[in-house]
Amino acid sequence: MMLTVTLNAALDLTYRVPALTPHTTHRVTEVIERPGGKGVNVARVLAALGHEVTVTGFAGGGTGRVLRERLADEPRVTVAFAPVAGATRRTVAVADAATGDTTQLNEPGPTVTPAEWAAFLDTYEALVHRPGTTAVALCGSLPPGVPVGAYALLVRAARAAHVPVLLDTSGEPLRRAVAARPDIIKPNAEELAELTGFHEPVRATRDARRRGAHAVVASLGADGLFALTPDGGWQARPPAPVRGNPTGAGDSAVAGLLSGLAEGLPWPDRLARAVALSAATVAAPAAGEFDRTTYEDLLTRVAVTGRRAAA
Ligand code: ATP
Ligand code: MG
Ligand code: MG
Repeated sequence: MMLTVTLNAALDLTYRVPALTPHTTHRVTEVIERPGGKGVNVARVLAALGHEVTVTGFAGGGTGRVLRERLADEPRVTVAFAPVAGATRRTVAVADAATGDTTQLNEPGPTVTPAEWAAFLDTYEALVHRPGTTAVALCGSLPPGVPVGAYALLVRAARAAHVPVLLDTSGEPLRRAVAARPDIIKPNAEELAELTGFHEPVRATRDARRRGAHAVVASLGADGLFALTPDGGWQARPPAPVRGNPTGAGDSAVAGLLSGLAEGLPWPDRLARAVALSAATVAAPAAGEFDRTTYEDLLTRVAVTGRRAAA
């Protein structure tokens, strides 16, 4: 059983309109409502790969109730959100059918009180100590009210429970949590440059490891993944850039890395899986979903170069 944490979960709403024009009324031709937030997306991909997964974080209000119910209906997903008094945020994506462009509106989410944060920590502690928890992913930004050192605390708790932990966040929460020695971080190029001050992946990943991360997997958009790990350094690339919707590609990369970690796959195989999954997510029209045939085809064609560290 894997665990994903989404402190800033959301109910994602997509409206499709024929053509988006300011100051006019639009006829909505399609509405999609589904649970969202980064760790929730990771969980959905893990479940699609056949893994059992528990989702935690915060859920509250009417939107939180919908979030829990919808997730509970998904096969292989167990829901374990902690309560928050405010309502779970909504995000609204307005998809313009004429251009293919999307306009995104994101609510900030409810403010978490100190008592709610403390109650979440109890829930999380119980989940990481539960027998059978094989890996945990901490994903996304922090909602208002949650302390900036939150992820550092959650990394330490997972490590104390001997559960490997993958972190995908940015800014100051990432900086603090890296010092708590997570097993894997998955920054994109911009997040890694902000953390380290280096833009060049070799120097930047080396610096991030020096700051405390055991393995650093930088995601480089269409250039795939660049990984520096205790076992060696590799780059995994898709056979060609994929055109499509990159929303949620990073979350699919995290799901690939987490499942590979839980299954004990060697690093090159984990990276190949993560690249194939994330590229297949770009290829799928709906954000955060992947096309299985494309995934299986890409898996045979991802190029992994690099080398194992000297023993
Ligand atoms: P997110 O917005 O989901 O957080 P991110 O910015 O963290 O994403 P990216 O580096 O943009 O992450 O993308 C994650 C992975 O998705 C890449 O490492 C790559 O494997 C795959 N990917 C992204 N864009 C493309 C593309 N155009 N073609 C092929 N693969 C892609
Ligand atoms: Mg990106
Ligand atoms: Mg990302």
